[in-house]
Amino acid sequence: MTEEETIYEEAVCCHCEGLGCRYCDGKGKVLVARPAKKCRHCHGECCIYCGYTGWEGVKGKYE
Ligand SMILES: [Zn+2]
Ligand SMILES: [Zn+2]
Repeated sequence: MTEEETIYEEAVCCHCEGLGCRYCDGKGKVLVARPAKKCRHCHGECCIYCGYTGWEGVKGKYE
C-alpha cells in the first residue's frame, strides 16, 4: 500500500451517493482519514464542515 492508502480510505460520497458530483470531483468517492466516520456535524447529511461529502476528515483538494 502507498502511504496515502494507509492514512486514507475511499468512501462513497454522501452528496451524490456514488453518482459523481462537484464535491467529489465526479468520482462518486472521496478519500477520508481512516477509520472513515460520518461527519459529526451533519451525520452524513452534508454540510460546510465536511465539504458536502458527509464524511469526517475528508482529504483536502488542495493538499
Ligand atoms: Zn459526490
Ligand atoms: Zn457534514
